[in-house]
Amino acid sequence: MTATRDCDILIVGAGFSGLIMAIEARKRGFRDIVILEKAQDVGGTWRENTYPGVACDVPSHLYSMASHPNPEWSTVYAGGPEIWAYMQKVARDEGLYELCEFGQTLASARWGGQHWQVETEEGQSWRARVLVSGIGALHIPLVPEIPGADSFPGPAFHSARWDHDLDLAGKRVAVVGTGASAVQFVPEIAKTAARVTVFQRTAPYVLPRPDGPVKPWLRRLYRVLPLTRRIRRALFFHIFELRHAVFMGRPRAVDFAMKMWRKELERSITDPALQAALTPPYRIGCKRILSSNDWYPALARDNVEVIQSGVERIDGANLTAQNGQSIEADVVIWGTGFHVTDALERLEITGEGGLPLAKAWESGLQAHLGTAVAGFPNLFFLLGPHTGLGHNSVVLMIEAQVAHVVRLLDKMQSDGIAAVAPRPEAQAAFETEMDDRLSSTVWQSGGCVSWYQDDTGRNPTLWPGTVREYQARMAKAGIGDYRPVSTA
Ligand SMILES: Cc1cc2nc3c(=O)[nH]c(=O)nc-3n(C[C@H](O)[C@H](O)[C@H](O)COP(=O)(O)OP(=O)(O)OC[C@H]3O[C@@H](n4cnc5c(N)ncnc54)[C@H](O)[C@@H]3O)c2cc1C
Repeated sequence: MTATRDCDILIVGAGFSGLIMAIEARKRGFRDIVILEKAQDVGGTWRENTYPGVACDVPSHLYSMASHPNPEWSTVYAGGPEIWAYMQKVARDEGLYELCEFGQTLASARWGGQHWQVETEEGQSWRARVLVSGIGALHIPLVPEIPGADSFPGPAFHSARWDHDLDLAGKRVAVVGTGASAVQFVPEIAKTAARVTVFQRTAPYVLPRPDGPVKPWLRRLYRVLPLTRRIRRALFFHIFELRHAVFMGRPRAVDFAMKMWRKELERSITDPALQAALTPPYRIGCKRILSSNDWYPALARDNVEVIQSGVERIDGANLTAQNGQSIEADVVIWGTGFHVTDALERLEITGEGGLPLAKAWESGLQAHLGTAVAGFPNLFFLLGPHTGLGHNSVVLMIEAQVAHVVRLLDKMQSDGIAAVAPRPEAQAAFETEMDDRLSSTVWQSGGCVSWYQDDTGRNPTLWPGTVREYQARMAKAGIGDYRPVSTA
């Protein structure tokens, strides 16, 4: 254990959240900032997910920082390596690498009355006035516990831990899961694998997207005339905001999305039995709507087979599905997503009066405006509860949260307030509103179980409104939502 070091703002995580927080805090004049990052580089999601075909599912001009527009995106939906390189460049240009303590994993944080006392698993100790969590929601791979999994003789890995030393050409690959990652990597591996067997518990809705290379002349235009780039971003923003209507069950929007999906399915899949197998048994939008131009064509290939069931057990190289079908495989790839709602609960954080965060959240994740928790002074969660989206870029949500936090910190400084925590009644009203509004959405009543929900079926993950509404709410919320906390 090293000696305790001091800083003003301690940020945990160097993904989009942590980087945007550091950039905006510095703009406001806060200089004493440290970023703890458990890995060895910035990038978060885009450093961790390197599987073939990894890409964003909202256009890159929208899925990037407003403060750091990038005229050079090579495709409409940039691939993971390009997004990661963009984040590294932003971090280099802004001098953020100097703020980073890499290889440091937040182990615990305790409010000591004036400061947060933070310990890392690797033995660092920090004292900070403000603690900001930018740890993300999709970074702890979820691998289901399947009887006999240990007996599988070949390589088996999660999509977020891709084994790049393994050549899948000529191999029989079993893919478990049909979520956002599988939809991207299955079309890629199917090009060379001898056989790909996809275990699908529930079919997703997969819609086409207007992807493709951005022509060099257009990139030059974005470089030379920044207004054109801003117009493109604004255009994408408004188009993606319109998608919100699908989740609200507006008939015309739902019809439009359903027609688009059906056309895409029927264009690639001619076998009625396979069409039926790929038809989701729930309302569109209940689970995340996925986007790909390659998924259905990949499933139509001769070397790809879909088993309409999860894996029940593994005996050596044999995988047996719940419906009794059995196959032999050389490699297993878990496309089974991440621990989402329980990832935040795992944090060992102790607030005022020794209150553990796990206790404060025993009846479910909650945070005022998805950002701060009553009883936990000067602690802010970026992409906290109720800030996820089904229809637009979450970078916009992070930016709205960060703008709110830095404005609050600024105001505290000018008013001579050392610490604040949200008023419990403000937080309770926000949570009641969230639960009420979400209960009538397709996410809660569309006939599916999804990773948006916790063990009780509550949805603490998503923001029910448009991004524009959240931006307006965050811009309006001020110090009145918080109570000063005595640090005497
Ligand atoms: C494959 C994939 C594709 C996606 N595509 C999109 C998309 O197209 N559009 C969209 O809006 N969203 C997308 N998302 C969601 C994506 O996670 C967010 O867009 C965004 O990357 C979140 O940024 P973040 O900084 O909050 O979290 P992350 O990117 O997850 O970064 C969190 C960082 O915190 C670090 N960390 C975690 N725990 C600790 C700890 N205890 N101590 C120290 N460091 C820690 C991690 O190592 C990581 O670097 C995608 C997610 C995945 C997995």
